[in-house]
Amino acid sequence: MPPEDSFFQQVNLNFDRAAQFTDYPPGLLEQVKICNSVCHMTFPLERDDGEIEVIHAWRAEHSHHKQPTKGGVRYSTLVNEDEVIALAALMTYKCTIVDVPFGGAKGGVQIDTKNYSTAELERITRRYTYELIQKNFIGPGIDVPAPDYGTGEREMAWIADTYKSFTPDKLEGLACVTGKPMELGGIQGRTAATGRGVYFGIREACGFSEDMKVLGLTPGLEGKSVVIQGFGNVGYHSAKFLEEGGAVIVGLADMTGAIYNPKGLGVEEVFEHRTEKDSLLDFPGATNLPSLTDILEQECDILIPAALENQITGENASRIKAKIIAEAANGPTTPEGDEILRAKGVWVIPDVYLNAGGVTISYFEWLKNLSHVRFGQLERRFEENRDRNLLKAMEDVSGQQFSKTERDRLAHGATEEDLVEAALEETMVTAYDEIRRESKALGEAADLRTAAMVLAIHKIAGSYIQLGIFP
Ligand code: NAD
Repeated sequence: MPPEDSFFQQVNLNFDRAAQFTDYPPGLLEQVKICNSVCHMTFPLERDDGEIEVIHAWRAEHSHHKQPTKGGVRYSTLVNEDEVIALAALMTYKCTIVDVPFGGAKGGVQIDTKNYSTAELERITRRYTYELIQKNFIGPGIDVPAPDYGTGEREMAWIADTYKSFTPDKLEGLACVTGKPMELGGIQGRTAATGRGVYFGIREACGFSEDMKVLGLTPGLEGKSVVIQGFGNVGYHSAKFLEEGGAVIVGLADMTGAIYNPKGLGVEEVFEHRTEKDSLLDFPGATNLPSLTDILEQECDILIPAALENQITGENASRIKAKIIAEAANGPTTPEGDEILRAKGVWVIPDVYLNAGGVTISYFEWLKNLSHVRFGQLERRFEENRDRNLLKAMEDVSGQQFSKTERDRLAHGATEEDLVEAALEETMVTAYDEIRRESKALGEAADLRTAAMVLAIHKIAGSYIQLGIFP
């Protein structure tokens, strides 16, 4: 059943719910939630067979309270203006919640990538970038796209290359887009970042014994059963890190099918099976579920929607058995669904926080492109040599020798990947603790989503007040 409200209205319902916990004047709240700029572009694509097709595309910059704005580009037939604006708004709140200094933006091209050749996708992406340049909707200090549903490193490389070819003398041009391949100024760990952030967020949430007790769960990830809807970038990496962290992945679904095995599935084995068979179905030992949506209603401790929006609704929320819903996708739960989950006492870790890993690492990529220095490049050898000298001094004093393994472990300068992973962990853990504290401070009525939105409103409204625009 389609939700009654548009996606942006749904985001605003969450905003309004949180705004009740603040006392800002209505005009200021309106300024925080309104979308500042949106651009609808149409352009012709010459298909490989010579036919001309008109392509519809959008870019929305939801909030200019911080610049540049930042957000992914989505390729899907479901893309429309409302969706792009809603996703841009979620980006604003997300960046604010994890203290990444960007306003929110989002882009989309209304195509099904399966229907286009690689050459056609390249033409679409380069023309879309050209349109963004013409309309001043892209640039290192203006608006910085990134991958989202249906796009990846390849598209980001095309965007960077097109931008550079139109602005050849711009020293910081590569910072116009993030999620690029390493060879083109990308950063270690970006591809896995959102899934890794999802893992850190769930691990932190499961670490509070008093919260787990309320849910009838033991603290920690070990042995927790997890079902994941979506086995793309975010779904796969979330599954991988959670499994490594001790959780048991019991259900997985993508567009090719849904499978369930209460004893556990084995993430890499499922990945290989799908690569070989082009389908998740018929994985050894697992049951094929009759329909894709059945995945949401399976027995598990943690359900992770990691596909698209509007999956948990007023229609199916009452049948969900999970005790924790960890929103890796953007907007997977409608407000009607959310209300039912709240009434059932389900703990929802909200999208505006949980999938912020991608934008956090994108921020580091942007900084790296602006500074033209790889993280760790300046200090890594220095740190390693200093540690080795220290160990040598300890050996001289004690008369005992460290083994080679011990020496390599203790004398280790941080690589870019080490630094980025540690910074992501710090960001996700700190933000979760802040949201949890706020929800406790607000009392019974405030779930984690409301608490996260209250924090976002305070920070954005605060920046307008600092500017002297509002009293
Ligand atoms: P993706 O294209 O890599 O993967 C999407 C997956 O969802 C695919 O496996 C697809 O088959 C599956 N899927 C689609 N519809 C489905 C359905 N009805 N039932 C079951 N599976 C279905 O996309 P992604 O990058 O992993 O993004 C997934 C979600 O995470 C989106 O909501 C996106 O906005 C959000 N997100 C992504 C990132 C990122 O870094 N990629 C960052 C933040 C948020």
